[in-house]
Order: sequence, then C-alpha cells, then structure tokens
Amino acid sequence: MSDDRESVGGGGESVSGGEAVGAGAGAGEAVSGSGEPLGGEAVGAREAVGAREAVGAREAVSGGGESPGRVAFVGAGPGDPGLLTARAIELIALADVILYDRLIPVEALAGARPGAELRYVGKQGGGPFVPQEETEALMLERARAGALVVRLKGGDPFVFGRGGEEALALRAAGIPFEVVPGITAGIAAAAYAGIPVTHRGLASAVALITAHEDPDKPESAIDWGALAAFPGTLVFYMGVRTLPALSARLIDAGRPGAQAAAVVSNGTLPEQQTVLGTLATIAADAAAAGIGAPAITVIGDVAALGSDLAWRAPGPLAGVSVAVTRARAQASSLSARLRALGARVIEAPAIRIVPTDAELPPLDRFDLICLTSANGVELLFARLRARREDARALAGARVAAIGPGTARALAAHGVIADVVPERFVAEGLIDALTALEFSSVLIARAAEARDVLPDALRERGASVEIVSLYETVVEPLDPGVLGPLAQADYLTFTSSSTVRNFLGSASPGPNTRIVSIGPITSGTLHEHGLAVDVEAASHDIDGLLEAIVADRADRAAGDRALS
Ligand code: SAH
Repeated sequence: MSDDRESVGGGGESVSGGEAVGAGAGAGEAVSGSGEPLGGEAVGAREAVGAREAVGAREAVSGGGESPGRVAFVGAGPGDPGLLTARAIELIALADVILYDRLIPVEALAGARPGAELRYVGKQGGGPFVPQEETEALMLERARAGALVVRLKGGDPFVFGRGGEEALALRAAGIPFEVVPGITAGIAAAAYAGIPVTHRGLASAVALITAHEDPDKPESAIDWGALAAFPGTLVFYMGVRTLPALSARLIDAGRPGAQAAAVVSNGTLPEQQTVLGTLATIAADAAAAGIGAPAITVIGDVAALGSDLAWRAPGPLAGVSVAVTRARAQASSLSARLRALGARVIEAPAIRIVPTDAELPPLDRFDLICLTSANGVELLFARLRARREDARALAGARVAAIGPGTARALAAHGVIADVVPERFVAEGLIDALTALEFSSVLIARAAEARDVLPDALRERGASVEIVSLYETVVEPLDPGVLGPLAQADYLTFTSSSTVRNFLGSASPGPNTRIVSIGPITSGTLHEHGLAVDVEAASHDIDGLLEAIVADRADRAAGDRALS
C-alpha cells in the first residue's frame, strides 16, 4: 500500500496510503481498547469477498436460476451507524441496487458490495431533488430486471418515510417486498438526549406527529385541539422553522405553556444538540441556540428528564466537521475514530480500491513475502481462499509488513510478521530487511506502486516477483457531498494520491483547514498550490487525529483569548 501510494505520490509517504487501513484500525484500537483491527479489516474483507458471497447467497435463495427481483424497505435508523439493525446490514451487503435518502447514516453504504448501484434519491437538502414518481419508477424497473433493490430510508421506513406508498406501488405491480423496521428518530433522538418518551407517572402514551406542513395553512391536516388534549408525550418530526407557529397553536388550543419541551437536532450523531425549555419558550430557545435540521421536538413532562438523564459527553471535536478523502473501504476506520472524538465526518472518497485478476503465483517458491498494505493482505488471503489455501501457504517464507497496520491485518489471519520497519515506507522496509537472508521474493501490492522496494531487493541479488492485487481508481464525488464539503472545518489527506484524486473533482472550501499526514503528502499539496494548515507529527492515523485535536484546542484557546 504504502507502496502504491508512494508510487503514485512518488513519495515516501507510503504509509499514509499503505498503512492506511491498518493504521486506521490501530487507531480504533486506541479508542476502543479492543485488540482487533476491526474497522479496516472488516471492510477490507467485505470488499474482497462481498461480491462472491452476495452472488452465492442469491443463487442459494433463487436456486441458481433466473432470480426474480425484489425490494427491501430498510430503515437505516436515525444516524448513529451503530443503530442499523443486523438485517439492514445484511441486506445492504447483498443489494444489487441501493436507493437511499438523505438522512441515512453515511456509513451505511460502506457495507455495500463493490459494483452495487448506489443511488441518491433524496427529496430535500443540498443534493439533487428526485421526484417521488421517478424513485418509484426506478425501483420497479430495477426489481423487474431481477435486482435485489434496497430502498434505504432514515429512521423507520414506515414512519413518515413514504414507505407505505412505495410498497403499495410494488404490490400493484406484483413485485415482492420485505420491510425492515428501523429505529425512528422521534424515539432515538429523545433517548440520546436522556428523554424517555414514556415514563411511569409522567406519560403513558406517545404521539408521533409530522408537522412539516405549514400549521397556518387552512388545509393543515393537524387537529390542534386533539393534540393539545392528548394525554401523553407529543413528538413532532418537523422543520425547525415551524416551531414558533406550532407551539403557539398548541398553547392556543389549551396545552399549558409551562409544560416541558425539548428540541433535539442531529439526534444520535456526534453533532447532536439539545435545547430544553417549556412549550412557551422552546421556539425562542431553539432559535437562540441556532438549532438546525434535522430536529425533533418533544412536548410533555418527560422532556424535563433530559436535564437529569443526559448521558452523552461531547468529545474534543464536538461541533467540528472533518472531510475524509481516502477510499471508502479505508475511510471507515478513520471516520469511526473521528466520530468517536465527536466530529461530524464528511466522507468524500476520491478513490476506490478495485481488486485485479492478476494471477497469484504458488507461494512455496518464495523465501520472503512482502506486504505493503492491509488491503494487500486482505486480497492475498481472498486469493488463497479462492484456491482453497490458507495461512499455511506462507509457512515456508519470512513475511515482511510495511507497517503496523499491515502487520495487524496479517495477525488477524494468524500470521505474525517477521519484519516490521520503524519507518512505514518502502525505504524503511528496505533498511529493515538488511539483516535478512533471502533469494526469492514476492511483493504483493497495488498496481500503481513505486518500484523502490523491488529495485532495492533485486540490487541485493534476489529474484523478485510482483503481484498487483488491486488498483486504485478515481471515483467521482457524490454530488450530495459537495455542499457539506465546502463548509468542512478540516479536510484530511492521508496520501499523495488522495490529494491528486480529490483535486480532480473538488477543491477545498475557503475556511477549511487542510490537514496532511506527513511531509510527502504536504509536498504534493504544495505542488498543487495549497497551503498545509496542519501536518501530523507522527505520519499515521493516530498522528493525524492528534494533530487535528491539538489544532482545534489551539484555535479554541485563541478564540477565547481574542474575546
Ligand atoms: N422515517 C424517519 C422520519 C423521516 S421524516 C424516521 O423514522 O425517523 C424526517 C424528519 O425526521 C426530520 O425532519 C426530523 O424531524 C426527523 N429526523 C430524522 N433524523 C433525525 C435526527 N437524527 N435527529 C432529529 N430528528 C431527525
């Protein structure tokens, strides 16, 4: 990997790229305290085998013949990717086509198999507007063509998600469907704000209400009198803009102005914001706090429990948005760590990792096998599995890993690397191999890697074979991501290739601070005329995160000093 990045970047930042997945995983370790390189591994493995599994499963279900298409209405939960259901994750991994809305967790798509058609069909927000009829037509067309279509919606598909309408269209067309409920925002956002929507003695009923429509319109479908009299908690799903009219209507209709109320925006996400007040004050309180969409409003005595039961501590990057430019498969571990620190992550993958079909030679002819990325490790093992081999195929050789992330990926397959250099670049690996005797070397790496390592090993008299297990290809940015990207507080680059690929389809926002993993990547940024605001002292994911946290703290201190 690093190798690949290096070659692409022409620099030693290798690691950034290479160590990418691994380092991310390692980073995850630090936060979670778990020893498993979950993030990178899991995704890497999924990338490597996802397609095959998916096809296998579909064949099993359909008996191998013509598979009839079907649609799954899948609730993606309120935003925290941890609140996706097991069935949702399963179906996302199997889907041929995923039609997704705006308010799904961005991470939800990371589990889609390579080659799946991912299509944004959201109705609002910065992205393109896709009319409902078009979405339904697309869903029908793909299902008729035999695809497993996942219709992915925020929260629960049947709670203000138009899932019922779309299901009726399928029923009319005779297309089978499945419904996977999701955790709805009204309950989840409240819970993440410490508000139980029912509570013994305070509320024994809860109403979920949509107040998107203008409450002042005569044709407003809401019966305000009935809602004001409702003996329990009212949870409104709505645009924040309707809050003043909504609270006034309820008070007019007899709901006590002194009753507790809460607004929770971005519920369950790192940037969640909660405002507590009363029905009479909540609109002004929310406006003063600058609360934005998406938000729910809770009206009822239970809302007051939010002050006693609030349980989420803000992280050091709370309120900060950070864009991640690496390939989706590698991004998840970095993104997860950023989120754990409280950041809002904008995934803007400019590259994608695509396995090649290069032939893997029999491993018993080598006495040294070099792996230059966690991706390379995953794909090597996927190849071995495909020919019914396992870790024992490496038994006769020494195994060298370019850095700790690669070594961790190997360890997850039961192989302890014999050599891990101190500097995670090809040059570091060459130095680390000085003491070792070898004559026949296999380097498993990315297609576009530098030749520093093979050249150096050949100079030492070894015969060197290279197998290019994957290549990185430029991926156009999702148009829905461009708006948030322009507003990002930080834009991170973990290798020279992420710089080049990113700049091919976007440019940094005017107030965005540019973060580089190390000097090679910084050099590439400079070549492109960009100033580097933050450079990691340690050129790995831990270092990158530390640098952002430190920069944030410095700037916050600076702001305080100024004010
Ligand atoms: N089917 C979804 C609701 C779709 S309507 C569900 O079951 O949750 C969209 C509305 O849901 C938004 O306007 C907002 O009121 C609410 N919403 C969605 N995600 C939210 C979140 N993370 N925090 C607060 N409200 C949210």
